[in-house]
Amino acid sequence: MASVVLKNINKTFGAVTIIPNLDLEIESGEFVALVGPSGCGKSTLLRTIAGLEEITGGEIWVEGRKVNEVSPKDRNIAMVFQSYALYPQMTVRQNMGFNLKLAKRPKAEIEQRVAEAARMLDLEALLDRKPGQLSGGQRQRVAMGRAIVRSPKVFLFDEPLSNLDAKLRVAMRAEIKRLHQTVKTTSIYVTHDQIEAMTLADRLVVLNKGVIEQQGTPLELYSNPDNIFVAGFIGSPSMNFVPAELVQESGAWAAKLSDGKLLPCPSERGARAVGQAVTVGLRPEHLVMRAGGELSGRITMIEPTGAQTLVYFDLAGTQLTALVDGDTALSVGEQFACSINSERVYIFDRQTGERT
Ligand code: ADP
Repeated sequence: MASVVLKNINKTFGAVTIIPNLDLEIESGEFVALVGPSGCGKSTLLRTIAGLEEITGGEIWVEGRKVNEVSPKDRNIAMVFQSYALYPQMTVRQNMGFNLKLAKRPKAEIEQRVAEAARMLDLEALLDRKPGQLSGGQRQRVAMGRAIVRSPKVFLFDEPLSNLDAKLRVAMRAEIKRLHQTVKTTSIYVTHDQIEAMTLADRLVVLNKGVIEQQGTPLELYSNPDNIFVAGFIGSPSMNFVPAELVQESGAWAAKLSDGKLLPCPSERGARAVGQAVTVGLRPEHLVMRAGGELSGRITMIEPTGAQTLVYFDLAGTQLTALVDGDTALSVGEQFACSINSERVYIFDRQTGERT
């Protein structure tokens, strides 16, 4: 049986349904990221797995045991939060060993487990410091150390890096990944940051209003989004969306933009009809700058980021973003022209948002 199984989970707060009906299985050793916009129910779902929040309906299984009625401390789960929740008066060593002490483990065992976690997280030199004498990143490492010493069956991470500055986030992200590769504990990681999710997880689960929109490896979701929600959520900078209408041109499907331009469509995914209202999705990194390219418009803004530059241009009343080489000479007000391989064009039904 999978490490964590959620069956038919339902969660309401009063009259408001946050998670209507959710099924999810997480394999042993897997690193799964729950992603979705703020308020979609990620933390609530994680907290129900931890036992910090009661479910309204359904079953939660951890390592083959149904834990609905099991208290949080007996679920064999450790949770790492955004707020480190360290005891300020205790040293790093005491913070890390505290749960084991509460569980009345022998002193020698506590010392050995704390030492091992400290080595893994590069905290050995800091064991006698108090949290107030540590940087944010170090505190987060201690919070992770405290979780590791318990040798839980499952790690739950709730936006653990949100309080750190951008550079430290990247460093800690790498550390969490390295840690998972070492201990291989089943991990469920909640974040609204899709880059964080993509770089860390084996599998992403995209949530929208408590419903799983799609799940798969980061690259599956990036290359093959099922619908416009996933397409817009995964990928940075975000996919461009342009309204269009489907037409047939010598037997092949094309999307007709509002200025009359025709964009060849990729192979069919779902049922298509002539005149169907669709949204065309174009990833900024797939727009290739080319004089005379089929997509062109006036440049409205330029954002250099170093290796690459973001170019915003107007296409038939819609602002599009393209990603070009950082050394490309461009100016606001000039015409920008580009083209795209038709197999990289995404077509979504305007009504349902489903890919077609
Ligand atoms: P996310 O983690 O995706 O940002 P949350 O799981 O924190 O979302 O919240 C999902 C929804 O549930 C939000 O609309 C939030 O306001 C609501 N919610 C969370 N906790 C409670 C609570 N204790 N009582 C009432 N509503 C809550």
